Amino acid sequence: MNCVMKQVKSVALCIALATNAVAEPFDGFEFLFSWAEMKDEATAAALAEIGVTDATARGPAGFAAARKFGIRPYFTFMPVGPHKQVLGEEAQRRHDFVTGADLAGKSIPEAERRRIVEKRRIAAGCRFGGEPDTMPDVCTTDRIACFLSDTNCVMSKAKIDRLLADNPEAGGVALDFIGFTNLRSCECEDCKARFLAYARRENLEPNESSRDRFFRASLVSYINTLADYVRSVRPGMKVTIHLYPVFLPDPIYGKDLRVDTAQETVAWYFQWPDAKIADYTRRIVSGKYQPGSMGVPFVGLNATPGQALASKTPERLDAELRIVLASGARRLGVCNGWEMVKPGYREVFLKYRRD
Ligand SMILES: [Zn+2]
Repeated sequence: MNCVMKQVKSVALCIALATNAVAEPFDGFEFLFSWAEMKDEATAAALAEIGVTDATARGPAGFAAARKFGIRPYFTFMPVGPHKQVLGEEAQRRHDFVTGADLAGKSIPEAERRRIVEKRRIAAGCRFGGEPDTMPDVCTTDRIACFLSDTNCVMSKAKIDRLLADNPEAGGVALDFIGFTNLRSCECEDCKARFLAYARRENLEPNESSRDRFFRASLVSYINTLADYVRSVRPGMKVTIHLYPVFLPDPIYGKDLRVDTAQETVAWYFQWPDAKIADYTRRIVSGKYQPGSMGVPFVGLNATPGQALASKTPERLDAELRIVLASGARRLGVCNGWEMVKPGYREVFLKYRRD
């Protein structure tokens, strides 16, 4: 313990040096969210040991394990809708390419298909739904449902009811994949009609800027409807979200959300410049959020090198956490959550754990 305390003190000193100001005392992350999908006690114990306070869990055993080790467990909610999002021609071509849609139905062994897809993603500079380096880029999952066409959120509310009933031990819901596959819009007929009605109502020219405003407002309204609904059905439930895929016209819009914690990416799996990590963190830390809501810096973490999804060394993770801390953050979200307890990475988080 002494050793840990010494390290924590040295962190406070580093912060003071980096910001040229008196450091706030730092005694570990007060909120540490792991997108771990934990299923058993061994994982829960390992996560608790590194200071995780909140995490996604699966199944009765996962929820019970989290509770046993003092971690608040969340089930994951992904949006539903009557049909898939429509991406636009160029983005659809890119999506087909990086998901290997053209390989479906061909007699290619699965391992070979995966190898081809990985190579394509590397060649295309695919950023997996994070901020892209080149356009067009897309989220690499199957196309997300057009949740905006879920009128009055009927399908989403029914799904939340089901998830609440299935997970009586849940302390929270973690919203994920509430965004656009092409990173800025859905081009389906429903969304087009809704956009034109919005532009008329708001007295706006239907152009790129008003489209961005419409899709941003739609995202915020959908998420807030879900958050309000969860609390109305089960008061006391926490609602968190990772803003993902990135909404390119405004990546950090969490301050408008009525969630308990809005996790906003400050460091993606692919290495971002240190200055950008600091800038995004400061914006979150100094942002004026909705009453009862907090912004949380989110860091992407993959521990396995040699994949299309970039990996991070423990040293790089440590450097990023130091920037986040030096920029004033005391809360953090991490995905992939299960990587946090792997050798090397575990020791990094131990340095910043709250006693
Ligand atoms: Zn749509």
